[in-house]
Amino acid sequence: MTEPNQVPATATNIARAAQILGDGGLVAFPTETVYGLGAHALNAVACRKIFAAKERPAWDPLIVHVTGVEMARSLSRDLPAQFLELARRFWPGPLTLVVKKSPVVPPEVTAGRDTVALRQPRHPVAAALLAAAQLPIAAPSANKFGRPSPTYADHVQADLGSAVDLILDGGSTDIGVESTILDLTQVPPVILRPGGVPREQLGNAAIASPVADEHVIAPGMTLKHYAPRARVELFETEIALRERARQLPQAGILLPQPETLYAQLREFDTHGVPVILALLPPPTGLGLAVRDRLTRAAATGTLPPP
Ligand code: AMP
Ligand code: MG
Repeated sequence: MTEPNQVPATATNIARAAQILGDGGLVAFPTETVYGLGAHALNAVACRKIFAAKERPAWDPLIVHVTGVEMARSLSRDLPAQFLELARRFWPGPLTLVVKKSPVVPPEVTAGRDTVALRQPRHPVAAALLAAAQLPIAAPSANKFGRPSPTYADHVQADLGSAVDLILDGGSTDIGVESTILDLTQVPPVILRPGGVPREQLGNAAIASPVADEHVIAPGMTLKHYAPRARVELFETEIALRERARQLPQAGILLPQPETLYAQLREFDTHGVPVILALLPPPTGLGLAVRDRLTRAAATGTLPPP
């Protein structure tokens, strides 16, 4: 049954959501990557509600969603030339750019850092919400911290429920993995998280990219993350995976696609599958992001501090 805080993403409900954001409330909304849990980015009290709802540690900074380059300028300082080039090429879209922050951005958003992560999303609902609110929206993924990101409104409901004032239901998200995060404060720029914009498309803009088994890449990119409750075993070939499946008939088998990765991880949990055998895709295109998330889902141990 649909809960009263979950509504279709109609123009009327988007206007209502914009009002809630302006008043300091929390709104979950679809983006082209995953569902975000949004608050007015310049309202520190509202942003603290995001951390409380997600049970997210205060050291893990939030991505701020903007209407475009002009709003990005108002939240930042000393923008490098590369910022404009990349924004022109990839915005709106799944590329988050880390730049030096303006003093107007509260420390809650950036976890006390001197930098801020900015993105203009291209999903029509996210774009309409930003246009209606005319506010920067701080929005991490709308899941409980450490859990797989939500790609359906029902996932948000299952994780966060009534902690969210309004969930705009816009169906499934299309890319299914989070944005690529590129740190422009380092020279040359560094990919902090592989995601919706493949590394190949960034070309010379980025030379360094994360290795999935490093402990912390971006803040919050902890080794154990995006995790289902089941144990996850990883395989480089389907032959090896099938052989292991013969030994473990109770295991769930995951031949992942970016669009369905998180929904499948959640589905296995729903059915109480104890072990997931996952095939790692080649590290090209969106495969790099899928490998990264699967490696983190398979990691054991508790979340390390920053
Ligand atoms: P989420 O939207 O839940 O994937 O979380 C946002 C992620 O963006 C954080 O976990 C960080 O990895 C990254 N991030 C946000 N702000 C910054 C920043 N100022 N510098 C580096 N990484 C950031
Ligand atoms: Mg997240």
